[in-house]
Amino acid sequence: MFDHPSFDAHEGVHAFHDAATGLKCVIAVHSTALGPAAGGCRMWNYTTGEAMLTDVLRLSQGMSYKNAMAGIPLGGGKAVIWGDPKSDKSPDLFRAFGRAVESLRGTYYTAEDVGVDVADMSIVRQETRFVAGLDEGAAASGDPSPVTARGVYLGIRQVAKRLFGTDDLNGRTIAVQGVGSVGGYTCAHLAAAGANLVITDIDPEALASVARSTGARIVAPGDIYDVEADIFSPNALGAILNEKTLARLKVKGVAGGANNQLVVPEMGEFLRRKGILYAPDYVINGGGIINVAAEISGKYSRDWVEATLAQLMVTLGDVLDEALKTHQPTNYVADRIARARIAAARPTR
Ligand code: NAD
Repeated sequence: MFDHPSFDAHEGVHAFHDAATGLKCVIAVHSTALGPAAGGCRMWNYTTGEAMLTDVLRLSQGMSYKNAMAGIPLGGGKAVIWGDPKSDKSPDLFRAFGRAVESLRGTYYTAEDVGVDVADMSIVRQETRFVAGLDEGAAASGDPSPVTARGVYLGIRQVAKRLFGTDDLNGRTIAVQGVGSVGGYTCAHLAAAGANLVITDIDPEALASVARSTGARIVAPGDIYDVEADIFSPNALGAILNEKTLARLKVKGVAGGANNQLVVPEMGEFLRRKGILYAPDYVINGGGIINVAAEISGKYSRDWVEATLAQLMVTLGDVLDEALKTHQPTNYVADRIARARIAAARPTR
């Protein structure tokens, strides 16, 4: 654990097994300097426990940085459940997960992520109050994806402004990988703004539905990296930007909601040298956690969410400007700001 390349001084890494339900999950708490750790729960059919651990550590550190950049009083954590969300879900499994969350006594707040939805979270709520992203209750905020997608759309405009001198997306071509919750809502915003969409997904139904509503052109999952477009927007899974895919990209910007897009941080420099402006994933996709933070605060306010999202877009613009001015990779600039915000908060807690 302590030698793991992604350990990064996590405050706690908690593994849970429940024989009765078959639950295998890991909850990672990276930092509580800015507040209780918060981050979604992902359900995925990992090939090995090592792959699961690497995923949760990277996601949890990413949440620390994301929450710091979003300017919300939350630290970073994440949960992963090992299993196939299409066949391995059961109410008892999510109740067991809820008990695992409860055992951390508020150090970690959970919510939905890939493979987990609002209905699952309402089962988790039966065992713990340290859960957000619910659709019932006084401060319930529901599915965070629409707010994440709105942030991704606004972030794409921030990138366009730096690349083309205008944030008008009318007539621009955007290649979108993944049209699930975040990708689907993002496509709707982009289409409404007059962008031409080229989309891919491994789910034919999601593809057909988004293509119907937006007029998008469909390409096979393996072909999305070869599409000639202004901006590439990854909204599926992480680690998709590596030397091989980057060599193929024919775009001027990368801006999408998927977490952990860079296979290693050094890919940021690779992107910079290739002249591609990259919106750091955990900055552009912070809309959902802002929505969740509003719920955790106990007094959900749409105005506060909008104002905080607008401030996050200012922060994203500042990151892009500083990176362009100082010839640094955008992710290094964002990491430095996030680490400074966390370090400044640490002595006060
Ligand atoms: P989702 O499960 O609704 O959508 C993901 C989509 O990607 C699915 O349609 C899936 O079929 C598709 N996909 C999977 N592998 C693919 C591949 N190889 N090629 C093309 N498509 C593929 O999940 P989501 O909530 O939309 O999240 C998408 C990404 O955004 C994830 O990385 C998630 O961690 C991140 N994210 C989500 C939120 C949120 O509010 N939901 C917030 C921040 C970050």
